[in-house]
Amino acid sequence: MNDSYLLQSRRIEGTQPGPHLLIFGGVHGDEFEPMAAIRRVAKEPQPSRLRGTVTLVPVVNEPAFLRGQRMADDGLDLARTFPGRPGGSITERIGHAASALIRGADFFIDLHAGGTTMAVLPLAGYMLHANATVLDQQRRMARAFNLPIVWGTSSELEGRSLSVARDANVPAIYCEYQGSGICREEGVAAYVDGCLNVMRSLGMVDRPAPPDAVQLVAEDPRPSSGHLQINNPSPMDGFFEPAVRLGEHVAAGDLLGSVSDALGDRVERMHSRESGLVLLLRTFPRVLAGDTLAVILETGAAK
Ligand SMILES: [Zn+2]
Repeated sequence: MNDSYLLQSRRIEGTQPGPHLLIFGGVHGDEFEPMAAIRRVAKEPQPSRLRGTVTLVPVVNEPAFLRGQRMADDGLDLARTFPGRPGGSITERIGHAASALIRGADFFIDLHAGGTTMAVLPLAGYMLHANATVLDQQRRMARAFNLPIVWGTSSELEGRSLSVARDANVPAIYCEYQGSGICREEGVAAYVDGCLNVMRSLGMVDRPAPPDAVQLVAEDPRPSSGHLQINNPSPMDGFFEPAVRLGEHVAAGDLLGSVSDALGDRVERMHSRESGLVLLLRTFPRVLAGDTLAVILETGAAK
């Protein structure tokens, strides 16, 4: 079964030879900066000035986007469903079609944002790939993208677009930028620039080198590192009020925020288990027990 119709894509073929770069946005339907940025990137490289091919998919998960939510109505998180399967539910079929695109590319970028419920510090991340050549290319792509944080994490996570790229030895990075359900122009602009910076580093386009914006490079090989949804879970359903700001430094034991019931009779105070930088912070006040409230990037792991 050919499900390629599921992915609306634009392919720009340069008149000169070069690599094939694939860029995804909207793997999650409520992450908007990537979608706007990729549509803008589609207008950038003139085929006569492009070495190689760029394939752009601004909204990988259109059923989720149309619902205004992270996931489509089968309730599966596409970023846990790769490589998907033909003939499965809508998310599984999208995963299958998207996996074929990833395996056919030479390099891959997957753009994300915090979605409606979270805000994330701008970062470019990659898996700590077992193949040294692939790992080195990923490190270079992540640095070239030129966001403030470069973050290498466990290569053991499954179900991601990057898991498919890992298994196919396609050098791949993902990026995060703010979120909270809005589309910031600064994020769109940073993503457009980042994609073009990577294309420059791959020799696909000519453009001036940007001033280096990377502030922190961290690599964390622990098995669940990079899994942003399992950190500092809410102890109960309720109303979350953060006590920290995104990007702030916290020490272990510092108050991250509190969760209250309707009348405020029960208040659970959440203290940080780690010292480091507030990398991800819940911004949507309604929380359910187990929801991630914050992720701390342990700066002790920084290089
Ligand atoms: Zn996402």
